[in-house]
Amino acid sequence: MIDLEKIIAVIKERNAKTVGLQFPEGLKRQGPGIAREIEARLGVEVIVSGDPCYGACDVDASLLDLVDVLFHFGHSRLLEDDRIVYVEYYHDVDVEAAVRQALPLLGGKVGVVTTVQHVHMLPKIGQILAAAGKVPVVSPGDSRITYPGQVLGCNFSAAPRDVDSVLFVGSGNFHPMGVRLATGVPTVAADPFTGEARTVDVERIVRQRYGVIARAMDAKKWGVIVGMKPGQRRLEQARRIKEAAGDAVLITLREVSPERLIAFKVDAYVSTLCPRVAVDDAARFTVPVLTPVEFDIVKGLRPGDRLAFDEIRGD
Ligand code: SF4
Repeated sequence: MIDLEKIIAVIKERNAKTVGLQFPEGLKRQGPGIAREIEARLGVEVIVSGDPCYGACDVDASLLDLVDVLFHFGHSRLLEDDRIVYVEYYHDVDVEAAVRQALPLLGGKVGVVTTVQHVHMLPKIGQILAAAGKVPVVSPGDSRITYPGQVLGCNFSAAPRDVDSVLFVGSGNFHPMGVRLATGVPTVAADPFTGEARTVDVERIVRQRYGVIARAMDAKKWGVIVGMKPGQRRLEQARRIKEAAGDAVLITLREVSPERLIAFKVDAYVSTLCPRVAVDDAARFTVPVLTPVEFDIVKGLRPGDRLAFDEIRGD
């Protein structure tokens, strides 16, 4: 549920005349209704961002220039800018069935991580684990992470390493695979939407990534992609890679697609924007698209057996 009264209070307190709303894809359909209600109650102008939005990093900077305050829904705080108000969204789906399914797969000391949608369930998850004789461990992350135990697809700093297992509560594959590769600890994914739990297997993804690395080994001309979304911009990292690559060009992009990449005649790309881009879309790219970690392996700057998911770390 979105707490509209809180949003109204912020608009009044700031005396905002023009208000921006930005939603991730799953919440976009609520945009027009919320916009209409704010306009009707406060007489302010509301503008809804229509561009895709994939994460807390993905703030619509063009809309931000037009408004007094921008409400960014569905994600926790990431960018420090007083004009942006993050409105988190919690799923009320219960986690109990999935966590109980996970119990036989877990060791004694269990690191617990989840995404912001389920972070309010961490105390309950801890109770279920403790009642089953486990020792739950919830750790804080770095400055990109708002809550202890929270992970992003680009940041696993809150995943404990000194444990027997890590329990990820949430849906999808990317986060639990990232946790497994970042920690090196056996990881169990419990999906509250299906009530199922499984041990995370990274063999297929590791094979896929080494395949991409192998295809890039003979690359002579490189494109180094710099993300234009505010929370994905890693220009220093991109400059370092360009320097190490030799024949390379820096290319800015907001969104990466095979069509966009085909325009430049290079042998391989390194993507410094959202780490998910290179991995999730691998099958669609006709030239190898590597993460910075994988580029370092190609260039012998990192041992070949130390593959990890790329992370964007905070302080
Ligand atoms: Fe999510 Fe990617 Fe943005 Fe990280 S960089 S917050 S994983 S969209």
